[in-house]
Amino acid sequence: MRLTTTSFVLALCLLVALVSGAGAQQPPARGIVNVTGQLYRAQNNNHYTVFLVTPDGIIMSDPINRDFARWLKAEIASRFKVPVRYVLYTHRDWDHASGGVVFADTAEFVGHRNMLAALAPPAGNPPLPADAVKMDANRNALVERAEATGAIAERFALFDYNRDEVVSGAEIARGSVSDVNPPSVTFTDRHTVTLGGKRVTMIHLGTAHADDSSVLHFPDERAVFSADILQVKRLPGGLAPTVGAWIDALAIINALDFEHALTGHALAGTKKDAADTLRYLEDISSGVAAGIGAGRSLAEIQKTLMLEAYKGFERWDTTREAHIAAVYATMKGTRPGASAGTR
Ligand SMILES: [Zn+2]
Repeated sequence: MRLTTTSFVLALCLLVALVSGAGAQQPPARGIVNVTGQLYRAQNNNHYTVFLVTPDGIIMSDPINRDFARWLKAEIASRFKVPVRYVLYTHRDWDHASGGVVFADTAEFVGHRNMLAALAPPAGNPPLPADAVKMDANRNALVERAEATGAIAERFALFDYNRDEVVSGAEIARGSVSDVNPPSVTFTDRHTVTLGGKRVTMIHLGTAHADDSSVLHFPDERAVFSADILQVKRLPGGLAPTVGAWIDALAIINALDFEHALTGHALAGTKKDAADTLRYLEDISSGVAAGIGAGRSLAEIQKTLMLEAYKGFERWDTTREAHIAAVYATMKGTRPGASAGTR
């Protein structure tokens, strides 16, 4: 009788584990769509990259992560029969730039020079940030694997540069970039790659979002690709370090000749969408400046500067007030050390 009950409970546990396990292992949404000519956009859930097929091989952008990169490599091999010759990074962030090692047997890696500093070994001895201090139960100023929660738990191995099973303040400051294959070729302002009669130019976008962000311009396809800075019918995640840096970056993109606006997240669009994002940044800037000029408080400006023209954009309802606060702090000179990392 006792044995039967135990067996029943075990069977029930197994069933629950199987059901919840099946739920957690939803396969990622992946696909490849043609943009124009030999230019394709590839998807991994809500992350996107692009690649251009030439007779001599492929020029691609962000590898996104190792698992996706393996999938993409196999798809490319079976569909196009040519190897990936170039991986051109939009910026260093782990969720776009990880996994490039999958293409290291055939490809050269190109990124802005500032990527190298961002990927350098952890340096100095900065204190743990506030959220990590909360995890540090034994108060040794380090986060052990068992203490980690949230993003540090999920990506522990990507933070743990020296693989000692603890994460330090310096490793957290560096970020979860341990699977980013560093660029072997770097540039400062712009860099053009040519292959099989095709061209792609990378242009540095300044300091918006991250100080190593570049837009990829495909002149013959009249397309641009930018992850995290260019958005289509979607407000930027944050306006770090300043709204001025964002206006500068969108102005660089909008000055290019293109029709296809390809993004690292969500929708792709057209040049009009890139112009809309620039106009949003200019509208929020002038709106906040006018409010400050009229002696209004931040709360009053947040209540009156509705930016209705962008009401249909993704994140308008969740980020409009935060953007106004960020622009207000920049203009008042009270913005605390703003950090990048929002996408
Ligand atoms: Zn990013």
